[in-house]
Order: sequence, then structure tokens, then C-alpha cells
Amino acid sequence: MPIKVLPILAFKDNYIWCLINDRTNHCIMVDPGEAKSVLAFLKGANAKHLKLSLDAIFITHHHWDHTNGIKAILNTHAVPVYGPANEKIIGVSHPVDEENVIELAGWPVFKVLAIPGHTLGHIAYYVEDLLFCGDTLFSAGCGRLFEGTPAQMLNSLNKLASLPDETKVYCGHEYTLNNLQFAQIVEPNNIKIKERAEKVRVLRQKNLPSLPASLADERLINPFLRTTNPDIILRIEKHRGKRLEAPVEVFAYLRKWKNNFK
Ligand SMILES: [Zn+2]
Repeated sequence: MPIKVLPILAFKDNYIWCLINDRTNHCIMVDPGEAKSVLAFLKGANAKHLKLSLDAIFITHHHWDHTNGIKAILNTHAVPVYGPANEKIIGVSHPVDEENVIELAGWPVFKVLAIPGHTLGHIAYYVEDLLFCGDTLFSAGCGRLFEGTPAQMLNSLNKLASLPDETKVYCGHEYTLNNLQFAQIVEPNNIKIKERAEKVRVLRQKNLPSLPASLADERLINPFLRTTNPDIILRIEKHRGKRLEAPVEVFAYLRKWKNNFK
């Protein structure tokens, strides 16, 4: 079933993703951090589509910039709200975790993936070749470890990286250019990073999203998915000034290095 995905920009760099079933004009909103833009979008205010009928809201994790719009949307749209079973989020009516699937009339079955690290209950939604992964995997980067351990995050990223090549990655933020600048420091000789940076710069100059990212590309350019690459390990060890034994140590230090990158 062809699902169209459109971005709704919120705050400085958040994306609220809208999945549209083109046949029925029904839609699902992922991570509505604010209500105003979502409600306007549903009314067809941006003229890119007709008036849409909202079927459900999907939440990836509890942070306010992904959840603040829920209440006001529910005031005018009585829809189920799916969200992580392991996080307390006001308005979530259908807590879900990895053992669950989501079945909504007129839609293919959605899979739920548990991907803790950025927050402890963080989940992703996966349908056909579309992945909505909130603040866990970014294009050329990954989320900060606010609650989880490096081992949890590395495990979650490996889980996402094992999805099929053709997977399109819809992240929660437009962080790609900054991430690519860091990726170029970690891997200065990686031509793919340079090529992607050139493409993204053109898109961003036109104010277009750099997303979705292709998972096949991410494996080639995202340092956080490449921490077993010997060249990257050497580079990270050089920056750290010490040999790093386990893959999780390499990942943890890379994440720390990025935290201090401006
Ligand atoms: Zn977050």
C-alpha cells in the first residue's frame, strides 16, 4: 500500500511526520510536539492535499517536543494514541512495546521496535519500508544518552541498522548537516560523507528536509553505525589517547566526543 509521508516543521528543527493513505485521505501523526501546525495541516491549510481524517497518533518517547500537542489534538479528534509502554505520557491510550503490533483499519500492520538509550522506553514504528525512530537514529548521527547506557543505545542502533537496505529513515529532528560535519572529522577520507554533505547543503538552502535518509546510505556515512570499522576505531582511539577494547567503549567515547562538538 503506498503511504505518503509529509513533514510538519515544529519549533526550530523538529519534524512531526504525517503518514497519509492516499486512497482514503486518512492519516497518522507521529510525535506531535505542538497542536497548532498539526490541526492546520489536517484542514488542508498548506494546500498540498485535501482535508485529512486523523486515524491515530504515534509517540516515540516522552520528551515534550514530541508529545506537547497530544492534548489539544484530542480535544477535536477522538483518536487512539499509541506510545511506549515503559514511559508515562499523558494522553497515551494504547501503550505498546516490541511484542505488540498495531492494526488500524485501512492500514498495513505496524511493527513496534524497542530502542532504549535516548530515553529508557523509546520505541520506533516500522511499516513497509518506513521507519519512524524519533531521537534514536539521526541521519549521520544518533540521539544523546539522556537515560540509557551506551550499551543499550548501541544495541538499539544495531537493531535499526539490521533492517533492510531500502528502509527510509524518518528522524525526529533536522540535525543532518551538523552531524555530517562531525562525521567528516571522524572519517575525513570517506568520500560518501562528503557527497552526502553536498546534497544536504543544497536541500537545506532550499529549506527542504534532508530526510528521509536511506538506511543503506546511513551504514556508509553514519559514524555511530560504523564503530566496528578499523579506521574509525583508530581515529577514536587517537582522539581519546588510549586503546579502546570493547565496541561499546568505542561507541561511548564517540558519543562523548560528539557531545562536545559544536
Ligand atoms: Zn528526545
